[in-house]
Amino acid sequence: MRKSRYNLNAQEKLNKELRKAELIQEKEKVFLKSEWQGYCDNTDHPLFSVRVTHNKPWATCYYCSKMWILEKDKKQ
Ligand SMILES: [Zn+2]
Repeated sequence: MRKSRYNLNAQEKLNKELRKAELIQEKEKVFLKSEWQGYCDNTDHPLFSVRVTHNKPWATCYYCSKMWILEKDKKQ
């Protein structure tokens, strides 16, 4: 039946939108104890390099909004 096929496609579309919304909602945060450079570990999108330094103590993934935050140095 054509109608059921259409419904399935609509459902798939909806699921895709929901997954996108979940990605935006779940802003993962990673707290670092020292400066760090690497790649976002989310494999759902292209590689994105992340660099957190004392001069720029936070970074956000361009694709999935995951955040890396350098914890404050207690010596200061
Ligand atoms: Zn990412």
